[in-house]
Amino acid sequence: MKNIVVIGSSNTDMVVKTSHLPAGGETVLGGDFFMNAGGKGANQAVAAARYGNRVVFVAKTGDDLFGRQVRKSMAEDGIVTDYVFVDKEHPSGVALITIDKDAENCIVVAGGANMYLSPADIDTAAEEILKADVVLMQLESPIETVAYAARMAAKAGIPVILNPAPAPAEALSEELLKDLFLITPNRSEASHISGIEVTDMESAHRAAKAIHEMGPKNVIITLGSDGSLVYDGSMFMRVEALKVEAVDTTAAGDTYNGVLASVIAEGKSLIEAVREANIAGAISVTRMGAQPAAPTREEIAAMKQRK
Ligand code: ADP
Repeated sequence: MKNIVVIGSSNTDMVVKTSHLPAGGETVLGGDFFMNAGGKGANQAVAAARYGNRVVFVAKTGDDLFGRQVRKSMAEDGIVTDYVFVDKEHPSGVALITIDKDAENCIVVAGGANMYLSPADIDTAAEEILKADVVLMQLESPIETVAYAARMAAKAGIPVILNPAPAPAEALSEELLKDLFLITPNRSEASHISGIEVTDMESAHRAAKAIHEMGPKNVIITLGSDGSLVYDGSMFMRVEALKVEAVDTTAAGDTYNGVLASVIAEGKSLIEAVREANIAGAISVTRMGAQPAAPTREEIAAMKQRK
């Protein structure tokens, strides 16, 4: 088994379905209520673990029921939760989600303890980070913590993957970008980071090139049902998405990134990793939810046979 350290967020998603989204001051009587484990970090850790490698999740929750539930459900997926720190002062992260009858949604995220994951916490987890085969991060944690962890891993020669989601409010620093083995924006994040609006394949190529020039060794732009575009600084490779019946595209990117990291940790080529991640992303959109939708390695292999 290879070692993957995922550093990032965990949230509890609280979802209510309604006929319509409430306007300011309006109360709407909702329908069904669901509570799901979420947060980009946790979703990606689960996807990486289901691929069959050892995953250590570095995160922070509150000292509350949600935090305990996160540890329990992640441990059930075999994830090492020793470095899911407890913050006594801030509550666990939650996302309040309203979905109307047309599947239009309205989301408020309260990052809570996620926003207090600190460089000192990264030092505490250094033993695991320094023996990782891959470190995977996103941007739902403080940027200085992400940059600090990237530096620690890159200095030790460990490949660092950054899924720059949600799109950063401020430009990512040159130091952080140079520490990355791979950056994996989706269409809108790639537009945001490169300043080139990604509307078609031609603009995706230009954006990938521009992002590569900022420092990361490799760039993958994920393009939803159009698959993904890989650029390693000398060659572009396009991987088509599988044709599936999409029912819920939530966390397709998270599943994709988790599997990508797990395959790269096994020492496989970037293109092999993209092929596996592409299948995982496709399977995830055929199922409801984020973490429940992430496939196992066997399910990915079975889908490959069917192609
Ligand atoms: P995000 O969820 O971060 O916005 P994308 O929508 O680009 O990311 O999806 C990530 C990956 O998941 C895609 O590159 C693709 O492999 C897969 N995927 C997403 N949507 C679909 C779809 N409708 N059909 C097949 N595969 C999909």
